[in-house]
Amino acid sequence: MTTIAVLGSTNMDLVAYVEKAPQRGETVTGREFRTIPGGKGANQAISAARAGAEVTMIGAVGNDAFGLRLRDTLEHSGVDTDDLRTVEGPSGTAHIVVDDEGGNAIVVIPGANGTLDHLSPGDEGVIAAADTLLLQLEIPLAAVVAGAEAARRHGVRTVLTPSPARTLPPELLAVIDLLVPNQHEAATLTGLTDPRAAAVALLEQVPEVVVTLGAEGSLYAARDAEPLTVPAPPVTAVDSTGAGDTFVGCLAVAVGEGRPMPEALRWAAAAAALSVQRAGATASMPYRSEIDALYA
Ligand code: ADP
Repeated sequence: MTTIAVLGSTNMDLVAYVEKAPQRGETVTGREFRTIPGGKGANQAISAARAGAEVTMIGAVGNDAFGLRLRDTLEHSGVDTDDLRTVEGPSGTAHIVVDDEGGNAIVVIPGANGTLDHLSPGDEGVIAAADTLLLQLEIPLAAVVAGAEAARRHGVRTVLTPSPARTLPPELLAVIDLLVPNQHEAATLTGLTDPRAAAVALLEQVPEVVVTLGAEGSLYAARDAEPLTVPAPPVTAVDSTGAGDTFVGCLAVAVGEGRPMPEALRWAAAAAALSVQRAGATASMPYRSEIDALYA
């Protein structure tokens, strides 16, 4: 069993489903409202735990009802929450309006995630005990850098999902082993819209890159090898929310278990293909037996 630490966000997604999103000054009556646990950190933690890793979540929730439910959701998926702090104030929330064409508009309020601007005592020990540290960009950058540096000090593999897309300081990329942007994030990081060119350009800063390409699969590039394209299984997607997080969580599990990268990428693609066929980000994440069944 591989051990994974996740340093990142937990959010409650507050989703309003409407026929057409309101314009400024307009009020519309929607069809349905759902509260769905999310945040890229929690998503990746749940994905990796269901895929068979021993996972610890380093993060923060507020002392509100959302915080209780977020903690409970993580624990139900087998994620260790001993290092998930409860802080004064609201949990992180994402306010999402989804229209009938599948388009969405989102406001994210960091809440408790915004308090994660440094490592707390004990975090370094959790990171040191892991094989892999998963990072994203939904908490203050200072903590992401501190976490990656701590991982590097202890020989722990670092995997960064550079989302939300932004340019990154060289000192962060210097301590990242594997960068996993989607096509849009790869373009933001490099200014290059061709994913292969972007991946090759990123190799100047990190040793390994996987660019995810939605239904097209993924592209893997490493300094010592020709880029490799891995297709996604053809499926009918109903909701691709969280596909990237499912993919990264499962990729980290497979690599942590010592599988060669091409095999790990195919296994992660099977997991993500399962998740896009079901609604909800965390609710749709597959368990190991389901991934193995599709992979076989
Ligand atoms: P993100 O969700 O971060 O934007 P992508 O859209 O690139 O990332 O999706 C991540 C991975 O999820 C892809 O590499 C692929 O394996 C899988 N995936 C996404 N959409 C589909 C789809 N329609 N069919 C099959 N697999 C998909």
